[in-house]
Amino acid sequence: MTDTAEVVIIGGGIVGSSVAYHLAEAGCTDVLIVEREEQQGMGSTGKSAGGVRAQFATPINIQMSLYSLKVFAQFAELTGGHTADYRAHGYLFIATTPRHLDSLRANRRIQNQYGVNNVEAISRETILEMVPQLYGEDILGGNFCPTDGFVDPNSVMSGFAARARELGVKTWLNTQVTGIEVESGRIKTVQTSRGTIATRQVVNAAGAWAQAIGRMVGVEIPVTPWRRQIVNTQPFDVLPNPLPMVIDMSNGFHFRRDGSGILMAWPDPDDQPQFTTRFDPDFIEEILIRAVKRVPCLVDAEVNPRRCWAGLYEVSPDHHAIIGVVPGVEGLVLVNGFSGHGVMHSPAAGRLAAEFVLGKERFLDASPLSLTRFAEGKLLQETAVL
Ligand SMILES: Cc1cc2nc3c(=O)[nH]c(=O)nc-3n(C[C@H](O)[C@H](O)[C@H](O)COP(=O)(O)OP(=O)(O)OC[C@H]3O[C@@H](n4cnc5c(N)ncnc54)[C@H](O)[C@@H]3O)c2cc1C
Repeated sequence: MTDTAEVVIIGGGIVGSSVAYHLAEAGCTDVLIVEREEQQGMGSTGKSAGGVRAQFATPINIQMSLYSLKVFAQFAELTGGHTADYRAHGYLFIATTPRHLDSLRANRRIQNQYGVNNVEAISRETILEMVPQLYGEDILGGNFCPTDGFVDPNSVMSGFAARARELGVKTWLNTQVTGIEVESGRIKTVQTSRGTIATRQVVNAAGAWAQAIGRMVGVEIPVTPWRRQIVNTQPFDVLPNPLPMVIDMSNGFHFRRDGSGILMAWPDPDDQPQFTTRFDPDFIEEILIRAVKRVPCLVDAEVNPRRCWAGLYEVSPDHHAIIGVVPGVEGLVLVNGFSGHGVMHSPAAGRLAAEFVLGKERFLDASPLSLTRFAEGKLLQETAVL
């Protein structure tokens, strides 16, 4: 038997859930989310550090963040009482080289130009007042934005999904998409482990697995999976509470509070694209070397082995999302390649994808995020990548 849906969303993570929410709120409720896991959030969403920020270097990332931060701040009103657990504890970027200080200055200028008016340039002294435990001899200055901070990714995903369900959206769990049939250049059906779905619209929200979905219709989506690892400590009260996300620009090490412990991350430059989500215990020593260099008191922190994990970034060649339609495959909309920013950009991405599906005018110009930019050599340049 063939089921039908006006729109099929492949992937029930935070992005697929946001697309469903935005479609349903726009009145399109004959929507089916197909998720292969037994519950939503088992892909990258459940592995995220939950950081949200407007401190980016490109207009499109800044605009996506501004919209998304507003949604997080009003999440309960928008979703009928669900929480995003948005905590505006700030992001503090720390520069130790003139080059990084210059890039913070340039970013501030562009952030101001696009409406982020509360990013402050701060001195070493102010930084050390905020976080006195930092090693500060080499710090030249930094940028701080107090409305950056954190959300709870699972809560945001569940809130979007619950509201979408209330409006009529359906979800199939434990269901793998195995193929997509295209006839005369137009989507016709989606094949799944649970049967065929007749549909004319498909949204690829498959996260780090987006490329495999593209190949089902002969489209190359340049998204590669990169393992990212998180290490948490046991309760540690030596650092301030609350604490912003602190980013050491010299090596990308960053940390924040996670409850009573400290959450630490570091992009290992030796990692290669891979689908593994196995946590590597050797990573603990690697990250602690960077941690203790910047925050000497962390030498006394005990790692909580039950709170160390790995997940996947879904990385595009220019570290920007890929959102929009696909020339030659009518009815396919991509919402992929967030390169580690998919939680913070999920509200804006969901709205844009819904607008593409419905053929509506976009609330912001999404053309810089088109798939065709790679073939046309119009890659974007983001310096504030973590
Ligand atoms: C360690 C770590 C830290 C991070 N920190 C941050 C952060 O601080 N801030 C931030 O904004 N982002 C962060 N991210 C990135 C963020 O988690 C992702 O960008 C975001 O979760 C992407 O959401 P998604 O819904 O697109 O993908 P996912 O959550 O991966 O969802 C995709 C879903 O598609 C499903 N799927 C795939 N293929 C199929 C198929 N064939 N059939 C059916 N279902 C399928 C998968 O099972 C999965 O559930 C972090 C990521 C990691 C790993």
